[in-house]
Amino acid sequence: MTDDALDTLYRDVLLDHYRSPRHAEILPHPSATAKGYNPLCGDELELTLSVNGSGCVDAVGLRARGCCISVASASIMSEDIEGKPISWVKDYIVRVKAMLKGEGPAVESESGDLEALEGVKKFPVRIKCALLPWVTLELALRDGQKKRSEERRGGKGGRSR
Ligand code: ZN
Repeated sequence: MTDDALDTLYRDVLLDHYRSPRHAEILPHPSATAKGYNPLCGDELELTLSVNGSGCVDAVGLRARGCCISVASASIMSEDIEGKPISWVKDYIVRVKAMLKGEGPAVESESGDLEALEGVKKFPVRIKCALLPWVTLELALRDGQKKRSEERRGGKGGRSR
């Protein structure tokens, strides 16, 4: 990708996330985990979440290796979903994925940095890089759901909802 192209992708915002990714530490006792890989670019992501009893994402921890776009996207995601209810996060994923693919409107984020990724839709080879964290997040939410239902089936009780 040329420097010109990076400019249109809000170079500074993305480079800042790339150089110092937020929540860049794997959680020691996650309630949901997932790994993602983008073979087109070699981007790797390990994602851990802690979801509390009332269904909120308490904490996010991740290890991202790859290109600027994928690492920045993961970092921005971690900021935007922390402290949010799972139902909100699920809806957010749908909207962000649509934006990145150029199939939906721009999504405003609380961090204000998500907009920096919108330009990626103009660079088809980079869309998969930007999508990787969000696809991995879907997997992690599914993993968390599975673990919670296993817990319930385990008959430990006390965690009914
Ligand atoms: Zn990439």
